[in-house]
Amino acid sequence: MRRERNAKIIATLGPASDTLEMIEKLFLAGVDVFRINMSHSSHDDMRKLHGLIREVEKKHEYPIGVLADLQGPKLRIGTFADGEVTLVTGQEFSFDMDETPGDLTRVCLPHPEIFLAVEVGHDLLINDGRLRVTVTACSSDKITTKVIYGGAISARKGVNLPDTLVPMPALTPKDRADLEAACQDDVDWIALSFVQRPADVAETRKLVRGRAAIIAKIEKPTALTYLDDIIPFCEALMIARGDLGVELPIETVPGWQKRITRKARKAGKPVVVATQMLESMIDEPVPTRAEVSDVAAAFFEGADAVMLSAESAMGKWPEKAVETMHKIAISVEGDPLYRGILAAQRPTPKQTTADAITSAARSVAETLHVAAIVCYTGSGSTGLRASRERPEVPIIALTPSIKTWRRLALGWGLHCVLTEDAKDQDDMEARAVRIAVEEKFAKRGDLIIITAGVPLNTPGKTNLLRITEIKE
Ligand code: PGA
Ligand code: MN
Repeated sequence: MRRERNAKIIATLGPASDTLEMIEKLFLAGVDVFRINMSHSSHDDMRKLHGLIREVEKKHEYPIGVLADLQGPKLRIGTFADGEVTLVTGQEFSFDMDETPGDLTRVCLPHPEIFLAVEVGHDLLINDGRLRVTVTACSSDKITTKVIYGGAISARKGVNLPDTLVPMPALTPKDRADLEAACQDDVDWIALSFVQRPADVAETRKLVRGRAAIIAKIEKPTALTYLDDIIPFCEALMIARGDLGVELPIETVPGWQKRITRKARKAGKPVVVATQMLESMIDEPVPTRAEVSDVAAAFFEGADAVMLSAESAMGKWPEKAVETMHKIAISVEGDPLYRGILAAQRPTPKQTTADAITSAARSVAETLHVAAIVCYTGSGSTGLRASRERPEVPIIALTPSIKTWRRLALGWGLHCVLTEDAKDQDDMEARAVRIAVEEKFAKRGDLIIITAGVPLNTPGKTNLLRITEIKE
């Protein structure tokens, strides 16, 4: 099997997509990585979904990435006696630590640290910013507010405090338990929500112990402040526009999206653009023009992947949403402006042998119009270097590691094949040729480029570039 596009698609699983049949449909429609949202999945749910994904992977002999997304220290209100109340603009409403169900005048906010940190004049945003209240008085156990934008509010809705510095732990006890369960189940990626500082990711690394790769979700203003220091600690980034759009003035998010995308590419780490990409497709079979334009903008910027959330987890049209993203990618990647935009952002290679070789491979590939770049990659790092170059020809990443095979499903342009290490240089060449032909990337008379490290099978040592003609 082979995908006809370079950018990748992530789909979140949920009630609309949690069966073997739907997972296979979504995979065939174009999903490269499935996201399991630990905010809504028990450990048993996670194991079940993971098992179904692996069945599909096995049947189609094509790698699928699995991403467990940890809830993180998301702040939530308590419950209401009548399920839901409607707050009116201008009214008074208070938060306290009393666990009795709330009413029109008050609700529980079970996070004592907020009461100490919040100040008069700060705003609290509830339910992804749909409701806004401003603090008029506060003490260590009560926050009194005035409602700025009213609306319906119900149990356990999320709370954001864009003005307040809340001392939040990187991982809650639930996150720690979820992380361990996900690692034991051998997922490929762990996403860490509400990262604020490099230390948050470093702490997660210690717990993950190399069992999965880490995606830092950028959704807090403090993460933007420390972005350059966070990037070295993670394997990929997610631009989590849902919370970011609440925590920051919403009009600043598009600029940040561009800057984060460029920084990630410079670092050679995959970057995912997430949330509300095709929001109207939760209900409708066709997207809005603005949504199509938004997804296309992410591809034009060179994002590695785009993500579906509620559209695939609980929408009416999960398969159509994936098809829509796929078609937008094909259209953008065939656009006459696309290549020029990517080339203009190409970072200068770092001063290492491996970077020099992968950058040369791209340049030779384009000069000679080769059919594919085939790179041997154990840990996946050479594969990602080749991806960072955004070459015009396909990249085939050969790896003996099943973990790498699956992880690289997230990287732009990477077609990954599981194969043993080459025995010697003749085998290295013959194997690359055979796979390029078998996978239908090359035919007789074509040239391919091979990158590898000699002595063979020494990880992290890419130092060889070979141009080979396919003779039979
Ligand atoms: P969430 O993260 O869906 O877990 O909130 C993504 C976002 O905030 O955009
Ligand atoms: Mn979020």
